[in-house]
Amino acid sequence: MKVWDTNEPFVYEVESSKPGKRYKVWLLRNHGAGMCDCPYHGYRCQGAIYRNEPKLTPATACKHVLAASRHLLVSILEDQAKHQ
Ligand SMILES: [Zn+2]
Repeated sequence: MKVWDTNEPFVYEVESSKPGKRYKVWLLRNHGAGMCDCPYHGYRCQGAIYRNEPKLTPATACKHVLAASRHLLVSILEDQAKHQ
C-alpha cells in the first residue's frame, strides 16, 4: 500500500484498493487516533474513537491510517538512525 507525503505535516495520501484512488489521512486528528476520508473510517472507526478505544488498532483506525502511521514510524526511525 503506497503512502505519499503532502505539503502539510503529518498529512498523507494513501493508495486505495480501487485503482487510481487515494484517500487522505490526517494523523493528528481525533487527538492522535487519526482520521481518513474513506467510508470505512467514517462508518466504523469514529464510533470506536468516541468510545475511547485504543488508538491505532483495527477498531479505531482503517488500513489507510495504519499504513500512514507505519510510514511515519519508518521515516522517524531512518532519520534517528542517521544520528547514531
Ligand atoms: Zn481509510
